[in-house]
Amino acid sequence: MSELGEQIAAKVEAFVREVVIPYEKDPRVETHGHGPSDELVQELRAKAREAGVLTPHILEDGSHLSQRDTAIVLRKSGLSPLGPIAVNTMAPDEGNMFLLGKVGSPEQKQRFLEPLVSGEARSAFFMTEPAAEGGAGSDPSMMQTTCHQDGNHWVINGRKAFITGAEGASVGIVMAKSDDGACMFLVDLPDPAIRIDRVLETIDSSMPGGHAVVTIDNLRVPADQMLGTSGEGFKYAQIRLSPARLSHCMRWHGLAERAQEEATAYACKREAFRKLLVDHEGVGFMLAENQIALKQSELMIDWCAGVLDTGAHGTTESSMAKVAVSEAIMQVADNCVQIMGGTGVTGDTVVEQAFREFRAFRIYDGPTEVHKWSLAKKIKKAQLGAAK
Ligand SMILES: Cc1cc2nc3c(=O)[nH]c(=O)nc-3n(C[C@H](O)[C@H](O)[C@H](O)COP(=O)(O)OP(=O)(O)OC[C@H]3O[C@@H](n4cnc5c(N)ncnc54)[C@H](O)[C@@H]3O)c2cc1C
Repeated sequence: MSELGEQIAAKVEAFVREVVIPYEKDPRVETHGHGPSDELVQELRAKAREAGVLTPHILEDGSHLSQRDTAIVLRKSGLSPLGPIAVNTMAPDEGNMFLLGKVGSPEQKQRFLEPLVSGEARSAFFMTEPAAEGGAGSDPSMMQTTCHQDGNHWVINGRKAFITGAEGASVGIVMAKSDDGACMFLVDLPDPAIRIDRVLETIDSSMPGGHAVVTIDNLRVPADQMLGTSGEGFKYAQIRLSPARLSHCMRWHGLAERAQEEATAYACKREAFRKLLVDHEGVGFMLAENQIALKQSELMIDWCAGVLDTGAHGTTESSMAKVAVSEAIMQVADNCVQIMGGTGVTGDTVVEQAFREFRAFRIYDGPTEVHKWSLAKKIKKAQLGAAK
């Protein structure tokens, strides 16, 4: 890690602990059960701007911190579920900013990236489609949303599901299929041709706007709003994929650390059977296992970040990191709930939310089984060669 990365991480940690955590009990944290209100988002961002910690992973000159430095900064931002929202390191904006920074044209960056970096706008990434209609999910090649060129425009039609933050976003990245293959488009939101049918009720609750089912009905997009060229959409998705996947690990690792802090404090204060809970071996072992799992996860994140810093796509490494970290922190959160007894399942501490958020994390950005399946295919290929 660089000294600069350490300094930014320390500033972010202080801001999250002193300013953001007290907001966790604010009634605007869950609007209709679907994430913080935009009023709260902007209030928190104003404070982050004032404290000099807004969008801390992108520097004044537009350059991005190394992935290793990003890891320590994003982990600190994740100490509260509201932290990434406050300092603008949250999903899906962080991944969308990364993608736009890599493949956007200068005009596209000015129009769509700058409002995201300044924290004024939110964005959404439209890839998944309703399972009941046979659309893209674990297998993106099942994409049904179509696009075709009509003069100087592209016309897009289809249905999307689980689109995080679609409600309230002003920038969208929409994936659709042309005769050439997958394409990506930058769109202004809201647009009457992109209709939010409903916001899903989900187990998690941290993300502003929730997760929407959307109908795209004859959306006309000027040709210069295509990201890159027709048929290259999956290539660009690949650029976003590994860093975005890893940044989820970074943020949620921060929240898992916080859950462990809460469980430790409880176990070191609460007594049962005339001694502190921590002195009961069953409880002490759970805390010890958590500490081991958190350190292993941290090392896995740093290892994968180091691979990405070489310029490699890191597809295999980010798959391994995503499985290892999401599964490990799920167990950490479960242990924390158990250690805290009844209190663990209440909304009185952040432990209950950590448990819910990590459950969803085992599914998005590739379910555990899909990563294992893809790793197994690579293992087989390495052993038997491409022919089998
Ligand atoms: C909270 C949340 C937020 C999301 N946000 C977004 C978003 O902003 N934008 C977006 O485009 N999408 C988003 N998604 C969608 C997410 O990417 C998909 O849910 C995910 O890709 C899985 O697709 P699916 O739900 O259709 O599951 P399915 O494809 O139906 O798979 C179901 C299960 O089948 C198993 N499975 C599938 N393939 C294999 C295999 N090859 N080997 C073994 N087992 C397999 C896995 O256990 C998997 O969980 C979000 C999802 C959630 C839950």
